Amino acid sequence: MTAALDGMIAATAPRVIRERGQREVFCGLTGIIWLHRKIQDAFFLVVGSRTCAHLIQSAAGVMIFAEPRFATAIIEERDLAGLADMNTELDLAVSQLLERRPDIKMLFLVGSCPSEVIKLDLGRAAARLSREHAPRVRILSYSGSGIETTFTQGEDACLAALVPELPTAPSGSPQETDSRSLLVVGSLAEVVEDQFRRIFDDLGIGPVHFLPPRRAADLPPVGPNTSFLLAQPFLAETARVLEERGATRLPAPFPFGAEGTTAWLAAAASAWNVPNARFLSTISPSRERSRGALARFRAELAGKRVFFFPDSQLEVPLARFLATELGMELIEVGTPYLHRAHLAEELELLPAGTVLSEGQHVERQLDRCRAAQPDITVCGLGLANPLEAEGLTTKWSIELLFTPIHGYEQATDLAGLFARPLRRHRDLASCA
Ligand code: SF4
Repeated sequence: MTAALDGMIAATAPRVIRERGQREVFCGLTGIIWLHRKIQDAFFLVVGSRTCAHLIQSAAGVMIFAEPRFATAIIEERDLAGLADMNTELDLAVSQLLERRPDIKMLFLVGSCPSEVIKLDLGRAAARLSREHAPRVRILSYSGSGIETTFTQGEDACLAALVPELPTAPSGSPQETDSRSLLVVGSLAEVVEDQFRRIFDDLGIGPVHFLPPRRAADLPPVGPNTSFLLAQPFLAETARVLEERGATRLPAPFPFGAEGTTAWLAAAASAWNVPNARFLSTISPSRERSRGALARFRAELAGKRVFFFPDSQLEVPLARFLATELGMELIEVGTPYLHRAHLAEELELLPAGTVLSEGQHVERQLDRCRAAQPDITVCGLGLANPLEAEGLTTKWSIELLFTPIHGYEQATDLAGLFARPLRRHRDLASCA
């Protein structure tokens, strides 16, 4: 498949600054915002405080008139003081919820900082409640707590909780292609999922399943004949438990941009022994369209300097896309965690001399950012407003999770997310 990778830059290992200190990140509850749209008959019940409820409600935006598929079971002061039996109260809340909402087929009890502080065992509660409400609804648990986590780890914890529930895939010799299956792991917008499914069909790769599925009853099978492609770079725990079930990860860059998408598809094509000519004839029309559309953005963005604060864990693949496909200059690429195995292909493609930082010491990083005066800074909401007030142009990293950015057709939307703030800055400057 090497012919498919032309145009990408091979480089020497980047320099990594490791930092520990104060961090500015959201917690894993945030993942509920995109996960509840994805699994359409699931419900997310956060067991947390009023702060957790406010976070979810404000991040989710206006849902007042809709029947939301998330809620918070508030831990009150008497619960924290040990004056109430939290398990009894939780059982009651779940029973009332399921009675009122017969459409719920999968219920996630989502742990928070307060539930962890009082050591409420949500795993045990989920098992107990599952027995009570089976087979009508499956009840699982995971932690969305903000203690030592980043906001995308909520999705990782949720998907990892699903893995033990996945049915066992048919066994047989891995050489028999009809016993093999491909699993795409990570939440994707439905339009993106449909596009990828069409390409895999055209390549003769399949059956293809997606985790998470759109409906609770469609849990994909997994086993030793399952090969999986990560669609997101923040799914370390999910990948680990899939491997425990015998599945094999296909190493690849992530499907951002025309070239990242090509390399990601090439990893599956190579595992399925798709002839290179068939691969190229299948993907070329989409790849060329995507390249052509990106050329417009390249003219606008080439040479612009970008600084990433560590936030979403998408930073390394996005930096690769911005540098190799749009010609942007990387000042510093901060990431909360650097998963060297999952990011190996991305790291190889970064331009020589790229400076990475892992972890965060926010004050030091702010100093470096101010000194560099980048054209655009990618950061969390907490840093964006102060930096804008100082005259820097910012991009909220959380938007990259809410917007479909994977695949050929979305590559220009991804480029547009970086071009728009720069245009706004330019327009404001010309009005001043
Ligand atoms: S889980 Fe923790 S960090 Fe997240 S909103 Fe609740 S209290 Fe805050």
